[in-house]
Order: sequence, then structure tokens, then C-alpha cells
Amino acid sequence: MPNRRLLQDRLIHAIAGAERYSAKVAILFLDLDNFKKINDSMGHGLGDRFLKSVSERLNSIIRDSDTLARFGGDEFVVILEGSCKIDDLSSSCQRILEGFEEPIPVDEHVFFTSFSIGISVYPDDSKDPEELLRCADSAMYQAKAQGGSGYCFFTADLNSRTRERLLLETHLRKALERDQLRLHYQPQIDLFSGKMVGMEALMRWAHPEWGMISPGEFIPLAEETGMIVAFGEWALRTACKQGVDWQKKGHPAVRVSVNISARQFRHGKLVQTISEILRETGFEPGLLELEITESMVMDNVEEAILTMEKITSLGVNLAIDDFGTGYSSLQYLQRFPVRRLKIDRSFIQGSADDPHHAAITSAVIALSKTLDMKVVAEGVEMMKHLDFLLTRECDLGQGYLFAPPLPPEEISQALRDFEGNHEWKSRIEQVNNTR
Ligand code: C2E
Ligand code: MG
Ligand code: MG
Repeated sequence: MPNRRLLQDRLIHAIAGAERYSAKVAILFLDLDNFKKINDSMGHGLGDRFLKSVSERLNSIIRDSDTLARFGGDEFVVILEGSCKIDDLSSSCQRILEGFEEPIPVDEHVFFTSFSIGISVYPDDSKDPEELLRCADSAMYQAKAQGGSGYCFFTADLNSRTRERLLLETHLRKALERDQLRLHYQPQIDLFSGKMVGMEALMRWAHPEWGMISPGEFIPLAEETGMIVAFGEWALRTACKQGVDWQKKGHPAVRVSVNISARQFRHGKLVQTISEILRETGFEPGLLELEITESMVMDNVEEAILTMEKITSLGVNLAIDDFGTGYSSLQYLQRFPVRRLKIDRSFIQGSADDPHHAAITSAVIALSKTLDMKVVAEGVEMMKHLDFLLTRECDLGQGYLFAPPLPPEEISQALRDFEGNHEWKSRIEQVNNTR
């Protein structure tokens, strides 16, 4: 089956022909809806044989005059050179979807599967082969967002979103080499001593024209495009170097937490990267903590536990971030080599007024005490949040009440500042004196 390179050649050829005869060319971008699940649960060997059967089935459905190519992973592309009327394209897609209503046999198993299909047309959507593929790809995402097992035509509205995304993506690709990424550090306060005992490193993108961009706006894109692996490695190295630097300046040794993305966590080289960075920077492993989320772990529990154990065997700590927003099996939680749970800020912020949020926060604190884990409350903004956490004996707090995420050069000042008088500090002292 033609691969991506050959597909590009054929597409250029088809477009050249169409240009000559004022004809049209359509692209169908196909993506399997459940390949990851099959691949993860049955192993990669079987996954490969499954993909082979899928391509044979596709080949038997499409016409001989059409080109079918494997684009990568579980993505296929069909080039249609005949009629590109909407009705005809719809029925082509329909034929493919119906062709997969019968299950796919692999070895002694059978699998049900389906496709999400995106359609773009030359010259209506674009005249450029690369861009035509991107248009079909974004239409495919639209089909996927509508629940899969269906097809979507590319539209101009998708186009403006694609353009925006493309612009962001183009700039983001240069962010690392142009030295535009930054880490800010947010203090974590021990709610028994009132002292700063840790910091969370939070990434920012300092764009020369667009200004400081928050991670919510670029981390998802970095994750989707795979850039996150390089970004994450940069964050780890920068945080460790910074930690060493602060110690050299005579700051007390505090823990630094770094967020790890799903893609990074599943990347085979994570453990090796961490140990190389520790060796290279000389940062004490016990002072490094990695934050992962529930969903990353619950996707493939056994493999995740193995990765977690390899990480903790380096002496590095693990924390579960945004706890309570995903779904965790309590049975597994007990097997995770995790030191800390971070309760999601939505619960903390509701805790003072909403009895349900208060109940969840209390339950998570109690649960973690039983499991011998520490709890960090995220998003502590107001005194009433702190008061609630103090009555529940929560271990640590992080939030605007204590300090926002700060650029590294402001941390020394913050440390000095924490020595002074604060309402939150006297409240912590007051409560702990009566305990
Ligand atoms: P997170 O790990 O849950 O980080 C906590 C977020 O809460 C941060 O948002 C922080 O600025 C914000 N926050 C802290 N205190 C308060 C408060 O009192 N009130 C409110 N409303 N918010 C507070 P930020 O910096 O925008 O980061 C958002 C998310 O982006 C992070 O959530 C994390 O999931 C992700 N992220 C940040 N840096 C990295 C990174 O280096 N790598 C990866 N993979 N993800 C990152
Ligand atoms: Mg975090
Ligand atoms: Mg969080």
C-alpha cells in the first residue's frame, strides 16, 4: 500500500491532471475510531495484523481507479478522481462505513471497528496538496467530535479555525529553539508550620508579539502535535537546574514539582530522560516531584504502575494532580507509588459554600491519610478556604492567597516576604497552637 510519500506524489499528479482538464479531486481522510483500545488491550503484534485486515477490507471497497494510502498509524487517505459532487462523495463514504459493519477477523478474534472520515476537494477548499490534506484532516476531527463512525465535509468555518491553529502551531514549533518558554514557580505552604516547602513549576510561553501565553492555550496543541515531549524535557531540565541554582544561593532546599503530560508519560524514554537530567544537573532526586493525572494512569493501569515504579526507584516522588476530576479506581490507588494527592481547585473553591464540595474535599483528605499519602489543596484563594482546610487537617496548600506563580528571579524576595507577617500565617499558627 502506498505510504505517505507516495501518496503525496500521487496527489500532486492527480491535481496536475485535474488542473489541465478543469476537473476536481477529492480527498477522504480516514481515522479508525477505536484502534488505540485494540492496540493497547491486545498487544502490538495483533494490532499490526488488525491494521492489515483493515487495509485489505478498504481495498476491496474502493474502486480500482481510486488511490488508497496509509497515512500513518491508523490513518488512511483515499484520493478520488472521478465525480466530486457532494452526493457522490457522500455515497463513497457511506460505502466505506457500511463495509465496516461486519467485524474484522484477526487470528481467532473478531473486532468491530469504524472510521471517522473528513473530506476536502480540490480546487474548492485549496489548491495546495499539503493544505488539502490538512483540510481533510480537520474535517475528520469534526467527524470524530460528532461521535465517530461518520463523515464531514470541510467548510470555510473549519478553515478559519484551522488557519488559527496552524498559525499557533507554526509559532509554537519555534518556541523552544527561540528560547521563548519560561517556567514560573508557585509556592506550596505546609499548613502545619506555615513554611514554604515546595514549588510547582508552571510553563509559560513568552511570545514577542502576543505576550505571555498561559499553558491552557498551548499545552493541548503541544500535546496533540507531539511537541510536548521536547517541551516537557526542557521543563524538567530547567526546573532541576533552577533548583540547584537556588541551593547554591543559600535558599533552603525545597521540593520542585513538574507537570508531566500524558504523551510524555507514555513515551518510552521518560525514565531515561529523568535519570539523565538528574545526573547532568546534580539535582537531588528526593527534591523532585512529578505530577501526573488520574486519566493518564487509568488508561493502562498495569503499564502505568510499572512506569511509576521505575520513576520512584530513581528516588523521585510522584503526585496525582487535579485529583477528583478524573476517575480513579480506589483499589488501584492503593497500589500506586504516589506520595501526594493534589485536590482539584474546583473542590477547594467550592468547599466553603457548597456542602458537596466540602464533603468531597474532606473525604479526599481522610482517604489520603488512610493511604499514607499527603494532600495538597490547589487554588487556595481566600481565608475561608484556608479555614476549611485547617479544620480538616489538610497537609499543604497552594494558591493566590499565599502567592501566584512567580518568575524565578522573584522567588528570593518571596522567601523573605514569607518571613514577615501575614494573616494566613497567623491563622495557621493560631490553629496549630490549639491542636
Ligand atoms: P495544574 O498543574 O493543575 O496547575 C495549577 C494551575 O492553577 C496553574 O494554572 C496555576 O496558575 C493555577 N492556580 C494556582 N493558584 C490558583 C488560585 O488560587 N486560583 C486559581 N483560579 N488558579 C490558581 P496555569 O499555570 O495556567 O497552568 C494550567 C495547567 O497547565 C496546569 O494545571 C497543568 O496541567 C498545565 N501545565 C502547566 N505547566 C506545564 C508543564 O510544564 N507541562 C505540562 N505537561 N503541563 C503544564
Ligand atoms: Mg500541576
Ligand atoms: Mg492541578
